[in-house]
Amino acid sequence: MQTGRAHKGVGMTSDNTRQRLVRRLREKGIHDERVLSAIAATPRHLFVDEALSSRAYEDTALPIGRGQTISQPYVVALMTQAVLAGDAPLGKVLEVGTGSGYQAAVLARVAGQVFTTERIGELLRSARQRFHLLGLHNVLTRHADGLNGWPTQAPFDGIVVTAGGFVPRSLVDQLAMGGTLIAPEAIDGQQRLIRTRRLESGLERQDLGEVVFVPLLEGLD
Ligand code: SAH
Repeated sequence: MQTGRAHKGVGMTSDNTRQRLVRRLREKGIHDERVLSAIAATPRHLFVDEALSSRAYEDTALPIGRGQTISQPYVVALMTQAVLAGDAPLGKVLEVGTGSGYQAAVLARVAGQVFTTERIGELLRSARQRFHLLGLHNVLTRHADGLNGWPTQAPFDGIVVTAGGFVPRSLVDQLAMGGTLIAPEAIDGQQRLIRTRRLESGLERQDLGEVVFVPLLEGLD
């Protein structure tokens, strides 16, 4: 029998704590069962430093190094629910800001393929190891400035931006017809989570409430 640390980590007795987190998300209004199952199946403690793993199932953002954070589970669930939009399964999803890889791992359970970009090479390397460990072979990663999207894989059925400020036009242009983009935008001194849908009639915008994300930056690190 394999007794390696990483192997034990995957099956750790965090099942109960994870179920408690799922109940809390349900109480906060997350109702899409596909999203709740994806959260239940994703071991968030593997996406943070071991010193923080006891706090992994609290509904809070946590530091992941290099001044970045793993998003709050509620926000991950809200963004995933919003990008799923209708009942149809999602084909291709682009994420800007891989960070720890947690949001991408949740997306990987509700979408056919996830394309995720990160500007900080060191964070991306750790995220890649986690996708490998969890057998998430439908996640493709790229060390790149996500402001340019991923032109060779466009168009996307969904785009999720996990760093805040503004939405570059190139991302909207890479949305498929009927596709949905979720991003934090700076509006009146606040960050608001905005859902943009590309319809035949044009772009439809919906405000999903206030959020706090680290800034979207240009260039590689
Ligand atoms: N989705 C992540 C959240 C990480 S925080 C998670 O689940 O853990 C946001 C990330 O966006 C940071 O790692 C930051 O480095 C990255 N980021 C900021 N601007 C970026 C850009 N232009 N292109 C790609 N990644 C970017």
